[in-house]
Amino acid sequence: MEPVRLGKTNLMVSPIGFGALPIQSVDRESAVKVVRYAYDKGINFFDTARGYTTSEADLGRALKDYGSEVIVATKSKYKDMKQFDKSFNTSFANLQRSYIDLFQFHIVNYENELEEILEKGGPLDYLEEQKEKGKVRHIGITSHRPQMMLKALPTGKFETVQIPLNYIEDEPLEKLIPLARSLDVGIIAMKPVAGGVYTSNRSALRWILQYSDVVPIPGMCRIEEVDDNLQALDIPITKAEIEQLEADKQELGTVFCRRCDYCMPCPNDIEASYIVRSGMIFKRAGWDKMEMSHIESFTKGLYCEQCGVCEERCPYDLPLTEMVINESEAMLRKGVDQGLITEDELQEKLKAAGQSS
Ligand code: SF4
Ligand code: SF4
Repeated sequence: MEPVRLGKTNLMVSPIGFGALPIQSVDRESAVKVVRYAYDKGINFFDTARGYTTSEADLGRALKDYGSEVIVATKSKYKDMKQFDKSFNTSFANLQRSYIDLFQFHIVNYENELEEILEKGGPLDYLEEQKEKGKVRHIGITSHRPQMMLKALPTGKFETVQIPLNYIEDEPLEKLIPLARSLDVGIIAMKPVAGGVYTSNRSALRWILQYSDVVPIPGMCRIEEVDDNLQALDIPITKAEIEQLEADKQELGTVFCRRCDYCMPCPNDIEASYIVRSGMIFKRAGWDKMEMSHIESFTKGLYCEQCGVCEERCPYDLPLTEMVINESEAMLRKGVDQGLITEDELQEKLKAAGQSS
């Protein structure tokens, strides 16, 4: 596995990094196990965030004895100093290292957020001080909006940039990646498999691996996922794989859920993110996998008050206020097809929720 130089940080990282968001969804022991497994298989770059609940502390527990053999990145979404300071210290304690290799500003999607970071005495100054103290080695930035990063990188303050990049979301290739290269900013690709929407995660990764200075960090929480992702390194992408990615792109369009869960929680306890991606999940897994527990979730979705909280949080601008109700109804209709509920029961549910026409 040939290491990749992460821009001006000069960190030499494995060509595929470990996205640690999903380990929060498994038990603590399994989380530690999968991180160590990835390390044993040659992955030396691990990316987490203060916002990923248990992920950061699990990563810390898993890697605490590996010292400089591993490169650990985390992030904070806070822009005001009081919360940023608290968040930084929690991350530092969680990771159990004498320094954090890469500390990133998490989700800087708007101009005012960039301004807050750069303010005198603000989070960037704070991180620069931590760098002087030796607690942080490098400073990076992340965003879901490549356009925003075109403004951030020329400030010269960031050593890495992390953005969504995959076959469908390839906008960064046009301007941002050339800019990052020209400034020697390390490039980290989040959402390289777009939340698992492609027919093959491996093909999606191979597409990114064509760009040898871009480091994808697919999310992983199972041993098999580590193995599968690393197999992407075996051969270059084939013509047939590109054709399949293109077919997936045609099928998905641009309005699809990437499983980031930033939209959650819903104040009405509706599983909005699950509901809007369930069509895709069952299409891949088989409609016969639908159970009564799913019917309950979709029924609850009919009661969405369209408050807009989830929509506002979605970095991909998905029209969730419409999608949650529409998808809930569409999934309940599939439930009728599967014999889980009758057409009459569906009509009763729609009527009770005020959704019948
Ligand atoms: S729009 Fe609906 S699903 Fe989204 S947060 Fe509001 S009530 Fe919940
Ligand atoms: S709906 Fe948006 S915020 Fe929610 S999981 Fe999907 S992509 Fe992420």
